[in-house]
Formats: sequence, C-alpha cells, structure tokens
Amino acid sequence: MTFWKKKTAGSSEYTKARDRADKWMSKYIRLRDADANGYGRCISCGKLVHWSEADNGHFINRGHLNTRYDEQNCNLQCTKCNRFDEGNNEGYRRGLIAKYGEDVVNHLYIKKHLFRKYSVFELKAIADDFKKRFNELTKIKNWKK
Ligand SMILES: [Zn+2]
Repeated sequence: MTFWKKKTAGSSEYTKARDRADKWMSKYIRLRDADANGYGRCISCGKLVHWSEADNGHFINRGHLNTRYDEQNCNLQCTKCNRFDEGNNEGYRRGLIAKYGEDVVNHLYIKKHLFRKYSVFELKAIADDFKKRFNELTKIKNWKK
C-alpha cells in the first residue's frame, strides 16, 4: 500500500530503480543458494525448495538500507518462513551462524544501524551487477530462468 506516497518524478524513478535492484538481487541470491538441480534449503527451517518458488529472505529486514543489498544478509528462504512466520528470525539466525559463523551475524547487527542512502545511479549499478552475475550463474549451471 503506497498510495499515500508523494508522486513526484524523482521518487518514482528511485522506486523503479530500487525495485529493479531488489528483483535482480533476489534472482541472484536464490540461484546462488540452489544446487545443480535448482533446489536449495531454506536458511531458517532447512526445507528443500526450488529456487523459482523460494524467496530472497533478509535477516535484517529490508527497511534497513545499509544491509538491504548485503549478500550475507540475504539468503534463500521458503515462502512460509519469509511471509507467514515473520521471517522465522530465530531459525534464520541459527542458519546464518551455521553458514557464515557468529562474527558475520554480529557484524550485520552493527551494520544495520549505520546510515545508508542510495542514489538512483547506485541502484541501477546494483541491479546491473546482480543481473550480470545471475546470467553468469545460469550459464555455469544451465539452469532455466
Ligand atoms: Zn523455511
């Protein structure tokens, strides 16, 4: 629900760029975390899901811009944990420690509080970078898009 947002040319350009960066990051992260058959384990509950049916789950929620595009903060997550279980945050924390170690989790907690702002230009660069890396991954693994 975004109807109360000011509709200016500038903000819609920003929203468009941010949505595009989110989209390509999500595709890249889900594919990164999938095996050769396209399946990956949910970071929070361990359920095996196909990347195309999984979410890109944020450990620190997307409202914190400084960790929004952090690749350790983002991992393949099943839709149940991400959308209906408030991110299954305790499970996510355990999964993150198993995957990267406790230092990374503590670092994310610190990073979360640092102020970060993105320009439209930066968001476009982020989107292009993830898109490029997504396409490289599909070539390596021959996964379907
Ligand atoms: Zn799950």
